[in-house]
Amino acid sequence: MTRRTPTAVDHYDALSAVVRMVRSGRARTRPELGAASLLGRTVISQRVEQAIELGLLEDAETGPSSGGRAPRQLRFNAGRGLVLSAVLGAAALDVAVTDLDARVLEHRHLEWPIARGPEETLTALDAEFTGLLETRRDTPLWAITLGVPGPVEFSTGRPSQPPIMPGWDGFDIRGRLQGRHRAPVWVDNDANLLALGEARASGAGADEMIFVKVGTGIGAGLVSEGRVHRGSKGAAGDIGHARVLEDNSVMCRCGRTGCLEALAGGWALARDAVTAVHEGRSRYLAEIHGAHGEITPADIGRGVTVGDAWCLTAVARAAERVGSLMATLVNFYNPAHLVFGGGVLTVGDAFLRVVDHTVRSRSLPLAATDLVIRGSALGDLGGVAGGAHLAVEALLSADAMAAWTPLGSPSAVDPDRLTAGA
Ligand SMILES: [Zn+2]
Repeated sequence: MTRRTPTAVDHYDALSAVVRMVRSGRARTRPELGAASLLGRTVISQRVEQAIELGLLEDAETGPSSGGRAPRQLRFNAGRGLVLSAVLGAAALDVAVTDLDARVLEHRHLEWPIARGPEETLTALDAEFTGLLETRRDTPLWAITLGVPGPVEFSTGRPSQPPIMPGWDGFDIRGRLQGRHRAPVWVDNDANLLALGEARASGAGADEMIFVKVGTGIGAGLVSEGRVHRGSKGAAGDIGHARVLEDNSVMCRCGRTGCLEALAGGWALARDAVTAVHEGRSRYLAEIHGAHGEITPADIGRGVTVGDAWCLTAVARAAERVGSLMATLVNFYNPAHLVFGGGVLTVGDAFLRVVDHTVRSRSLPLAATDLVIRGSALGDLGGVAGGAHLAVEALLSADAMAAWTPLGSPSAVDPDRLTAGA
């Protein structure tokens, strides 16, 4: 990001604060902005007028009066721009267009194996993006975000040695998408986006959160003081490959042994299920294996709901493994909310019950008091919502606003100026 001249600092800091507070709902009137920000009345009045001229805020209906003339309510104009937000999974692609409040306006779900590699995948993504914008040419495109199922070097938007994304290591996703669509691009780990989407949907009480995605693989996103904590290289939260078994008997798909997901991830349960069929331990699984030649994590989820004993035990044991590691992380991180998402939620509350018991019985009383352990409220679209929040919040930062507000829209600025130093 280009450095601002010192005299411009106060101006854009105040403009950014005013817009972000109205957008997040922390302040809805000029007096509330004054109380929440400690900015003077004149500054607030001028920055609100500027935000209205930029089309970011609008005067809405009159608010409740506390005696005297009621202050006018301000509203964030979420229709001022669009965000294209996509999340890539191991076998599927979710593509959406959202408004600036991260509300999904249209969404498409494609079966898509990530192993097809970056060229083919990003070409398919380009076509979906173009289709979603077709009927919305009048609204400027503000940003593009992509979530991927692996570690990402956040500053460059490049995947970093992702174990299940062959061909993607170091690929310049940002450069490729920015070249095609002329909008700033952010790339992040999918669990980080799920965590951010969930935190924004849950209110300030969830500003300290661990979000754990348990599906085919296992990953986590951390939110601290309302912001995603990525760590120095973007590797924070990669708990799926934490070593939880000391002997070398269980091989992981990352090439090491004893990883959490090699014992408790969906793919590991599917592997164990095939062994169970060969040992004659589940008629339910034997029938599926006979009919389809394979067993998927979703089959095991259905096994839990129909009461298959092997599936129930396998899921409970996986939940205990996950819960055991989470107890340590709860002690270490002290979140207010521990949220679970991903395919595991399809098994009903069987998984969450065991996790809840394991975490509470093994973590320190102070860390476990008032800890909320729950399933995600957003489900499958939490990642695309999180991506949209990530981009819009970045574009409403003081530095980004200093770069684009003189030109009227982020779409008028060289995208590299908005994402550099991300
Ligand atoms: Zn591993």
